[in-house]
Amino acid sequence: MIARSVVTNLNGLLTPDPKSHWKVDRIDDAAIALEGGRIAWLGKRIDLPAEWTAAPSLDGAGAWALPAFVDPHTHLLFGGDRSGEFNRRLHGVPYAQIAAEGGGIRETVRATRAASVAELVALGEGRLRTLRERGVGHVEAKTGYGLELEAESRLLASYGELRRRGWSLDITLLPAHDIPLEFAGDAEGYAQVVAETWLPELVRRHPGVARYCDVFIEGGVFTVDQGRRIFEAGKRLGLQPRIHADELSWTGGAELAAELGAASADHLMFCSNVGMRAMAAAHVTPILLPTTTLCLGMREWAPARKMIEAGCRVALASDFNPGSSPCLDPLLVLRLGCLQLRLTFEEALTAMTLHAARSLGRGDLGHLHPGARASMALWPVRDPLELVYWVGEAYAPRVIVPEDPCA
Ligand SMILES: [Zn+2]
Repeated sequence: MIARSVVTNLNGLLTPDPKSHWKVDRIDDAAIALEGGRIAWLGKRIDLPAEWTAAPSLDGAGAWALPAFVDPHTHLLFGGDRSGEFNRRLHGVPYAQIAAEGGGIRETVRATRAASVAELVALGEGRLRTLRERGVGHVEAKTGYGLELEAESRLLASYGELRRRGWSLDITLLPAHDIPLEFAGDAEGYAQVVAETWLPELVRRHPGVARYCDVFIEGGVFTVDQGRRIFEAGKRLGLQPRIHADELSWTGGAELAAELGAASADHLMFCSNVGMRAMAAAHVTPILLPTTTLCLGMREWAPARKMIEAGCRVALASDFNPGSSPCLDPLLVLRLGCLQLRLTFEEALTAMTLHAARSLGRGDLGHLHPGARASMALWPVRDPLELVYWVGEAYAPRVIVPEDPCA
């Protein structure tokens, strides 16, 4: 990126207002001045201050400038894929049978354990490039397909390398994604090993790489009490909780997120009214993952409207993973946010930018204002509403993303 430049010839600019929950500002015929990877000035082109008129210009080609999307929930790194399983499920084979035969998440765990750091980095870089080409500027990414210390450590090493290469990432430790075969029938014992041995060891080996800790709290996986134990161990290591909560049934995950002051509670198709109010009061971001609901063929879309009415700052994410959301398409997330979660376009945009960034403590991402990082996508549309209106249309934005200064 040029150190000092002005984006001109924009049709307009649309950005959430960080001073409010859901207000979106629109400037027609806009210009944006960039300096050192940050926004120095923005407004109507005719108001561009004289000091910027001689700066090198970047032709916006009549596009609309929006903040680049922030994806606050992905399982970016895993080996293999599950396309074969996908068609078996369409043939009517239940997931429980596929899992009993060693398929499902166990297949991904085997492939991930077999992958080297170099292979994982190459996979991750390909996926991050795809996301960026589609308008995503910053990504949260979890471990969790290793389910053994050395494989989780390789995942964390791979994420550390991706950050060193300049990718804008926040990393979450999720060894408690499932119960590995080695601990079959002993969730309690596994939760204890993760909390007391693995988390401290992973943080010791890879200092400063992970900022968050996650647990899949669900019937048949981990209970609220086992989750609390892991989260408290994570907090002692400086890892803030993010929680897989109330996805397939109500388990009290949203309530636990509020109790712990978690950064986010994610999925929430079966969130209770009490849980919603508790998240709003504790400033926990509910992160909703509509492509997962779609891919699982579920009818229970997360109650986004009720959460907004309860005062929550809802965010949206892709949940990119090989089992329940093999999807690197942010526009599909945006469209399902409108079409199924019944968010307005402005709300869905804010959920995928400002609120997603806030759930990661990134106040300088997800909006376009002086001082914010110049992380933006220039969309070739007459009006930004076209991004959701033309369902299925694949737009190719020009994406400007400065390197992460924290990496
Ligand atoms: Zn997930």
